[in-house]
Amino acid sequence: MSNKLYLVIPCYNEEEVLPETAKRLKEKLLCLMEKGKAGDGSRIVFVNDGSKDRTWETIRSLHETDPLYSGINLSRNRGHQNALLAGLMTVKDHADLVISMDADLQDDIEAIDEMIDKYHNGIDIVYGVRSSRAKDSFFKKATAEGFYKTMNAMGANTVYNHADYRLMSRRALEGLAEFGEVNLFLRGIVPMIGYPWDVVYYERGERFAGESKYPLGKMLSFAVEGITSLSVKPLRLITGLGFFIFLVSIGMLIYSFVRHFMGATIVGWTTLMVSVWAIGGLILLSLGVVGEYIGKIYLESKMRPRFIIEQFLHDD
Ligand code: UDP
Ligand code: MG
Repeated sequence: MSNKLYLVIPCYNEEEVLPETAKRLKEKLLCLMEKGKAGDGSRIVFVNDGSKDRTWETIRSLHETDPLYSGINLSRNRGHQNALLAGLMTVKDHADLVISMDADLQDDIEAIDEMIDKYHNGIDIVYGVRSSRAKDSFFKKATAEGFYKTMNAMGANTVYNHADYRLMSRRALEGLAEFGEVNLFLRGIVPMIGYPWDVVYYERGERFAGESKYPLGKMLSFAVEGITSLSVKPLRLITGLGFFIFLVSIGMLIYSFVRHFMGATIVGWTTLMVSVWAIGGLILLSLGVVGEYIGKIYLESKMRPRFIIEQFLHDD
């Protein structure tokens, strides 16, 4: 069984961690090759997502010193998901199996062995799942877990506590390539591919250098992005809410008439003010949600490229 393994790592301003990451991954890959878990011609592929620092220079010099390293340079910053997708789509014709992970190696690379074992047992997609977040700050932990819960409540089904540390077989990647949407939310799309899948648990470590490229703001927009590209549940919630408010308004109508005939019409200024604001707010919020979806249709209809590759440094 041929088993050319490609590790795909999106990098944005990661000059501080790259040399160490490259070293650790090389050791790991050589060890896997020795054990026969990874075949000849396996590669470590760094995707430079339009970094502003010397990330690309670092990748280029890694490639020059050792053909084990490959590099993909995107034309500009496109965000983690698109950078990862660019990497996956570029290597899918070269690799038999691909593992994606972050540049900071917060995801335990020792879990790779188990992932590959599952692959050899006929599993196409192996999700790396964090068994605990003991090393994350309280804030990061709370926001991240809230993220998964909100996503699932809104109908965007993702694997709980799984980020983008995962193994995919070539045929799973070919399946992924069939999804033509521009706003590709990988964590939600990959489970839609199908094929046998499994999970591997690991402890998530700390970033050993540099800082997180996912501050709260980015995480929130990532969640909105994920929900609106995977599910129409928010729209249905709005419809439900509209229906509920309509029922309330009928109740209010009856109540108003009763009050009118009882001759007590002037009281209720507070109720009026409060409901004007509340309903106004709800309408604006609902319009915003609907607008999100219309915006998405607008962007999808343009069919813009998801990424543009400026350079691919690779020795086959
Ligand atoms: N990343 C990227 N493009 C971006 C932001 C992040 O390619 O615009 C990469 C980053 O280099 C890292 C991965 O995405 O390899 C995850 O980022 P980070 O570790 O900062 O996120 P966190 O672990 O804090 O959620
Ligand atoms: Mg990280």
